[in-house]
Amino acid sequence: MTAETGELPRSHPSPLRLSFDGGALAANWRAMDRLSGKARTGAAVKADAYGIGIDRAMPVLWDAGCRDFFVAHWSEVGAVRHYAPSSSISVLLGPMGDADVRFARETGVRPVINSIEQARRWTATGGGVCDLMVDTGMNRLGVRPEELGDPAIAALDIDIVLSHLACADEESALNDRQRSIFASLLPQLQHRRASIANSAGIALGAGYHFDLTRPGLALYGGVPRSELAQELQQVIAPEAAIVQIRTLPAGESIGYGASFTAASDMRVAILSLGYADGYLRCWSGKGEFTATDGAVLPVLGRVSMDLTAIDITAAPHLREGDWLRAGYDLPAAAEMSGLSQYELLTLAGPRLRAG
Ligand SMILES: *Cc1c(COP(=O)(O)O)cnc(C)c1O
Repeated sequence: MTAETGELPRSHPSPLRLSFDGGALAANWRAMDRLSGKARTGAAVKADAYGIGIDRAMPVLWDAGCRDFFVAHWSEVGAVRHYAPSSSISVLLGPMGDADVRFARETGVRPVINSIEQARRWTATGGGVCDLMVDTGMNRLGVRPEELGDPAIAALDIDIVLSHLACADEESALNDRQRSIFASLLPQLQHRRASIANSAGIALGAGYHFDLTRPGLALYGGVPRSELAQELQQVIAPEAAIVQIRTLPAGESIGYGASFTAASDMRVAILSLGYADGYLRCWSGKGEFTATDGAVLPVLGRVSMDLTAIDITAAPHLREGDWLRAGYDLPAAAEMSGLSQYELLTLAGPRLRAG
């Protein structure tokens, strides 16, 4: 058997898309920038800009004025560099081996040094400007305070000294403890800029802003602390086209597990969206979609891999091919689904991101 060699059309209309409000993303960044006071405001764009898509998010963030971008993996650098110079990109995982070090040198992006071993590796292979993560109590990544006297740290040419807050979205004594440990360590370290606040940390007040803040979630419409609710707008929502409209006769069930049975004849729409797209089974019998006229339409039965059934009795005008939007306001959707706002963003599947 040989493969077909004929040219396929490059793109094909998808019955699934992620609505994206670039104006809301820009407004959210500006709100975080205003709330960051005198500090500069960066952006965490790891994990494909929290599932929104680097190609959607980066041009908007750059135009809004953002000049400091944080990714987690080295593999994420390439996409960000299409939109921002290397000197504005930091890689949170740091150099784990020679290949990472080579990549950093070739591209000019900054590694975030997370351990004495990484510091030695960076200097031994030629050094250069880097960032440094210090662990002030989260015990995930970073050099511990008692290790900062190591000669490997003194040898670094540090732009940003970072730390990360474990409980910024809660009332916790750990916030102030981390902030004061961080402040007390800074005089020992030659550095240009200091940064501890994520989205929630920005709302903790000026004492947490230092020189640079690093919001992620809030930019994409997540609300980590209620004080921020009035400042932030929804940025994305899954949208799906109706692929079929049918009548569910009284007494019959719908979908896997036959978990919903109609009490009377119902008009039902089948949508091209399922758990493979990140619309998880937690929405079964619970999720809601809205039509363009605002009608709210409940999910019926179980969400399956590619398909979700909804009750369109309240919207008799709907036709096959019409688009509906999932209820995806992040704080409300988190409450309803039991997922975190971070998960709701980052689980968008490949078909949804592409659409
Ligand atoms: C992801 C991340 C952020 C952004 O956090 P949000 O809670 O999404 O604002 C900031 N700093 C570091 C080190 C991160 O890993």
